[in-house]
Amino acid sequence: MRKRRRDLLFGVLVLVIGVTGSLYLPFPRSKLDPGPVLSLRITDRNGVLLREVLSDEGGRCRWVGLGEVSPHLIRATLVSEDRNFFLHQGVNLPSVIRALLQNLRHGRIISGASTISQQVVRNLGRRPRTLLSKLVEAWLAVRLEHTLSKEEILVQYLNRAPYGNLAQGAEAASRLYFEKPCSQLGPAEAAFLAGIPRSPSVSNPYRDLPAALKRQKEILRAMARSGLITAEEYYRTASEDIRVSPEADRFRAPHFCDLILGSIKGPQRYRLSEVRTTLDYGLQKKVEVLLSEHLDSLREKGITNGSVIVLDNDEGNVLALAGSRDFFDSRHDGQVNGALALRQPGSALKPFTYALALERGMTAASVIDDAPNAFPTLDGNYEPQNYDRKFHGPIRMRSALACSYNVPAVVVLEAIGPDLLYRRLKDLGFDSLRKSPGFYGLGLTLGNGEVSLLELAGGYAALARGGRFQRDRTVIRMTGEDGKDVPMPGPERAVDVFSPRAAFIITHILSDGDARVPSFGYRSPLNLPFPCAAKTGTSKDYRDNWTIGYTPRHTVGVWVGNFDGKPMHDVSGITGCGPLFRDIMFLLNAKDPPLPFTEPRGLVRRSICPLSGRLARATCPGRMDEIFISGTEPREVCWTSHGAGAGPGLTTASVSEAPSRPEPVLRIVFPRDGGVFKIDPVLRKAYQMLGFKAERSRLDGPGTIEWWVNGRMAGTSIPPSGFSWKLAPGSYTIKAAFGTGIRRIESRPVRIIVIT
Ligand SMILES: [Zn+2]
Repeated sequence: MRKRRRDLLFGVLVLVIGVTGSLYLPFPRSKLDPGPVLSLRITDRNGVLLREVLSDEGGRCRWVGLGEVSPHLIRATLVSEDRNFFLHQGVNLPSVIRALLQNLRHGRIISGASTISQQVVRNLGRRPRTLLSKLVEAWLAVRLEHTLSKEEILVQYLNRAPYGNLAQGAEAASRLYFEKPCSQLGPAEAAFLAGIPRSPSVSNPYRDLPAALKRQKEILRAMARSGLITAEEYYRTASEDIRVSPEADRFRAPHFCDLILGSIKGPQRYRLSEVRTTLDYGLQKKVEVLLSEHLDSLREKGITNGSVIVLDNDEGNVLALAGSRDFFDSRHDGQVNGALALRQPGSALKPFTYALALERGMTAASVIDDAPNAFPTLDGNYEPQNYDRKFHGPIRMRSALACSYNVPAVVVLEAIGPDLLYRRLKDLGFDSLRKSPGFYGLGLTLGNGEVSLLELAGGYAALARGGRFQRDRTVIRMTGEDGKDVPMPGPERAVDVFSPRAAFIITHILSDGDARVPSFGYRSPLNLPFPCAAKTGTSKDYRDNWTIGYTPRHTVGVWVGNFDGKPMHDVSGITGCGPLFRDIMFLLNAKDPPLPFTEPRGLVRRSICPLSGRLARATCPGRMDEIFISGTEPREVCWTSHGAGAGPGLTTASVSEAPSRPEPVLRIVFPRDGGVFKIDPVLRKAYQMLGFKAERSRLDGPGTIEWWVNGRMAGTSIPPSGFSWKLAPGSYTIKAAFGTGIRRIESRPVRIIVIT
């Protein structure tokens, strides 16, 4: 019996010595390593945080030393969590005994007053909330105290405590809730943060801000009672407004950040701590507001969404990218990135067709026939139509491109061959054109191939750069978890896709507000008070509407439409995204208007006849300057006998000939449809007259011709005399008519614009 008791006593003694001795075993140091940085920060070009991405293990962790933590936070944390931190040996014995008693009474753990050391142990490895794990944690906490200094334990706590919303550590929490490093926290903010870790789900500022604020006040009161702050400081701090940064701010430039993450491969992502991007968040915010405002005004046209891209032309940097109106709007597929979505670009590819034509000897003055035409293809004849359902007869390339007529673009592409255009588009980064050139055929120039807004912007930026294509850039710098820069592949070599001279002439045409008047009117939103080239596009069935353009510095691409492919009502590039494009260009250039485009060497100017494109002579209805690649300028003088001359003092800014369809019985010879007339400011008003002339087939005998302007009879004339009409600014529809009743005959209407 005695022996047995002695054995038992010995056993207990060994156990006590063992347990006591084990308390002096060092805590495994490897578990205390800061570990890899667990999050990736995506910032804009100025370091503004756009998004913080969590690793698979969860948590955000930016390891900070005690010197990088606001002293307010340290004091508030000690008051909140462990007032006797510097006195105890890892466990607070009275509180452990109290917990044990409560546990025995209630059968479960009620009080959880753990020391900071115990919490560090708990945060290092989650254990179920049982009595045993409490004891294990206490045992480990004592060992921790024997391994680390008090200051080191505090650092472990401040870097590992859970602050809610997956923010792990005070630095991450401070950046999440207050957008500042935790070294800069004031007393009110510090007390606010210190209150969260005890119960991160209850004091979650995004779920229950009042609860978090209540806890903050408790901590401030406790600080005042302990003399850590004066009563005066308490009242001042407690009444201070706490501004928690909105939750949506954690997803800034969402489509852009998704694009960045998609371009970083999985394992690499977790070795990176920061990616500094090319985005300018200040600009991005303004672009997002403009997009939203313009879409409000387009709602009645059946448009629900849009995207915008802004590039800087120097390096191809993406400065702003809005993929949709609202990333969080699932009803309108807000998560679809409209900047990458593939859609038919309509007329937006025409400039590249004409740039090729310029390189192959055509000129901006070359006359192309805009007439009904059938192009044989594998699927039968291809008969392109114009947007306005009309044909405009022989027309100069400048007008054909500026007015975006379809038939001339197809005529030109047929001459140079669709294969060549296809190859150039590939060189311009249009990777989405995956089918063979034969699949697209001549329709390629009218946008039957699907491309993205980002690709279009990249192609136009090449025109802005004088024909040089540079792939767009989104990342400036990548920093590894060791704080060192990660080597990045250099930018892809720029490719000269078009000659600088051809690119410049295209730019010149696209920034020529007068040339697009017949199609777009004089008050087009594309006409800006500084040099800006622009082109619109509308896909078949009005599904997509584009405006893309550039100044020497920036390229802007805008798309509006519907992600579900629903057609819009009565929308053109002018009414659709033109005004938004204009506002963004103003935004970019308001302070510092861009300089003119740099003209390359080897261009010449000639004064040409606007009708024939040949060198102008006195009898031509007007003259205009045109630019040519040296060697392609016209050498012949215009020989056309222009039937009717323009009135005195008039210059014809842009004239196209009447359609070459079967002649009607009565035809207006002058003015011509689409004509633009400028009132001469020097000549006396009395001379500012336009001579209307009409022609009738001989069978109809003599008679008086009535002239109708905008639905009102303006006067009459008896052929061969014309009718003199006084010019006034505006747009007019002119009709000639004669006879009455069933014998009444009317001419086809002619539309003109008079500008001052
Ligand atoms: Zn002429």
